Parts: sequence; structure tokens; C-alpha cells
Amino acid sequence: MRKGYIVEALLEHTIPFTGLSDGEHEFHFVLGDDFFIKASDEELEGGNLKVGVTLVKSSNLLVTTMHVEGTVRVECARCAAPLDLPISNDQRQIFQLNADEDPGDDELVGLEPGAISINLSHYLYECIRLALPIRYVHPPGGCDPEVEATLQKLSVDQEHPPDPRWEALNKLKNNLP
Ligand SMILES: [Zn+2]
Repeated sequence: MRKGYIVEALLEHTIPFTGLSDGEHEFHFVLGDDFFIKASDEELEGGNLKVGVTLVKSSNLLVTTMHVEGTVRVECARCAAPLDLPISNDQRQIFQLNADEDPGDDELVGLEPGAISINLSHYLYECIRLALPIRYVHPPGGCDPEVEATLQKLSVDQEHPPDPRWEALNKLKNNLP
């Protein structure tokens, strides 16, 4: 995955687990612009997401399943104007209690003996990051009209003369059985 950001552990994403009974527990968060501003990530300028976390506690494991749903503000790759991109994703993260050493697994995190809480800020951010497409653009007609007009003019200009590479490709396509 793409790195290059640091996520601050926010207090509101801390779940103290020692007082929880074994079994299933649910938590809900809302992630707003401040969450993204605190993460030093140039690609995500803001957002508005609902988060649901299901935590299943047993004697030696905490299994968390996170669901994020909402929009993140990114820059359109076509017109560079802000774009509220809808995303939805699920991620599972397992915490091993009283781990003597870190299991060294992405999905499994070891918690030292004596740990009393987990913090989900980093994992929530990861879950959002993994939901991003490689490239994001406004839906057709949604781009900045000025940029759109310039792009259209450019593409018209490019139509003459035809690019010989495309011609070759078209020939190739037409000859396919
Ligand atoms: Zn756009």
C-alpha cells in the first residue's frame, strides 16, 4: 500500500478493553475533516465518514471488524478541483493479548501483557486508504467547466493529424478474428 503518512492516535478511537465482557461489542465513530488534517497525507484533504466497529473479545484475542462508509475529499486527476469521492470498505484487525513477541503479521498485532486499551486511528486510516481507486476523476460533466473547455479544445487539436500509433492499433483490432 501507499505509505508516506503518519496517523496520530486520537483519544476518541481508543477502546479500553479490560472492562469488557467476553463476546461482541459495537462502537461507532464519525470521521471528519480534522481526522484527515491531523494525518500528514497530501492526497486526502478531508472527509466525512461513518465508522462501525465490531469487537469480539475472547480470553486471548480481540477481533475487530471495521466498516467505513462516506466520502473523502481528494483532488480530481482531470481538472484538479476538489472531489468528494464515495468510498466503502471493511477491514479486520486482530489483537493478540499477552503476546510475548509481535507475531509479525499485518492482520495480527501482539499486545504486551498489561495492555489495557487498543487505538484504532491507524487501522481506520488504513481501511480508508485501501478503499481508494488508483485514479479519481469527477463523473462525466462534473469537472471544472473552465478546465473542461480547455481539455476539449486540446483533444480536438490532437485529432489532427491522427496519431500513427493509434492507427496501427486500430488496424490490429480490425484484423482480430
Ligand atoms: Zn474534475
